[in-house]
Amino acid sequence: MSETPKKTPITAIKGTKDILPSEVKKWQRVEAAARNVFDLYGYGEIRTPVFEATELFEKGTGETSDIVTKEMYTFTDKGGRSLTLRPEYTPSVVRAIIEHRLYLEAHPQRFFFFGPMFRYDKPQKGRYRQFHQIDIEVFGEKDPAVDAEIVEMANALLQKLGVSGIDILVNSVGCRICRPDYHRRLRAEAENIFDLLCEDCQRKTVTNPLRIFDCKVRGCRDASESLPKITDFLCPDCEEHFRAFCSHLDRFGIAYRIEPRLVRGLDYYTKTTFEFVTQSLGAQDAILGGGRYDDMMKQFGGPDMCGIGFAMGMERFLAVVPDRDEPATFLYIVHMGEEAKRISMDLARFLRGRDIGCLIEYKTRSLRNQISRASKLGAAWIVIVGEDEVREGRYQLKNMATGEQRAYSREEIVTAVRRPG
Ligand code: AMP
Repeated sequence: MSETPKKTPITAIKGTKDILPSEVKKWQRVEAAARNVFDLYGYGEIRTPVFEATELFEKGTGETSDIVTKEMYTFTDKGGRSLTLRPEYTPSVVRAIIEHRLYLEAHPQRFFFFGPMFRYDKPQKGRYRQFHQIDIEVFGEKDPAVDAEIVEMANALLQKLGVSGIDILVNSVGCRICRPDYHRRLRAEAENIFDLLCEDCQRKTVTNPLRIFDCKVRGCRDASESLPKITDFLCPDCEEHFRAFCSHLDRFGIAYRIEPRLVRGLDYYTKTTFEFVTQSLGAQDAILGGGRYDDMMKQFGGPDMCGIGFAMGMERFLAVVPDRDEPATFLYIVHMGEEAKRISMDLARFLRGRDIGCLIEYKTRSLRNQISRASKLGAAWIVIVGEDEVREGRYQLKNMATGEQRAYSREEIVTAVRRPG
């Protein structure tokens, strides 16, 4: 007898993750809190496609960035176009604004977005190939007060969700006026420590020396301590912008640390950059990063309109949001006999029509068995439908938390279940 070959089950792709129903409640709680906060600050939701022309990210994210050089999911479609699964959100929003001429509408414009991003990163705890971001962007406001407002807004979201132990790091990376000078000095000095750098950073001394500060290799971090810092090279405009930004944060009473090495992994930042980091997640400590990008819209052929935003990594953020018991809200209908089952189905329909979530037992089981199942499934209430209940049109409603039980009509069940506590 020939043996049937064993089939290997298909599993999720490395670096991707299923979000199971037991975890989804927390995702929804965080998303609802974020929506609520963004609403208070006047943000509108925008949704753009998951894939875009590859050129968009090459141009926007930057040709020397790690994302573009190493991490993009790029493919050719059947029509021969080069497409890329979005690795970040900002270039897509800028494209959409130009394409739909949203810049003609009143400024400043505030957008938020939730969704998956794709990067061919080295998977590990807190680092995935498909991960999710909450992203916000503001266009058309040069005032450093808005830089402080978005940091304050992110902080408000953390507070709302009870997150603590977060350090806020801020920096200025200068602008097209002061950065070229700094770049020249930095490149010259980076060449002096060339032999101490990893291969990747040696390449960066030529392509983009600022990126050396992003490197996590111990030797590079130590060696780069001696390199000049951008904060010593800021032009008067950038210096004043940074000073005003910090003084607004001081007035808000937000604690922060100036970190001159904070250059962020993207090429487009100008002036303000910031990051929220936690000590509780090990190496992948950044839960949120952002900054100003005053030149991107113009580089994309749009108007000279400045922008600023941040992206929060959902997976890492969820890891620092305290868990909460998600209270059960649904009602379970148990019944005895065929007629009672039919009445129960009508009752379920009646209650659902009044926004009361309910489940109904379909298998023939003893009453005790049904009640124990309802309790295992986490029902908040049980309704018992037996012969007497069918005759009288009144049903036993049991509150699973208090054990209290009473007979009610269908309408009274609605009121009793809706009553808080
Ligand atoms: P970035 O778009 O690189 O500025 O990242 C913004 C935030 O997204 C980071 O602070 C992280 O929280 C999150 N993030 C970035 N890359 C990944 C990844 N590969 N896996 C999980 N989260 C990520």
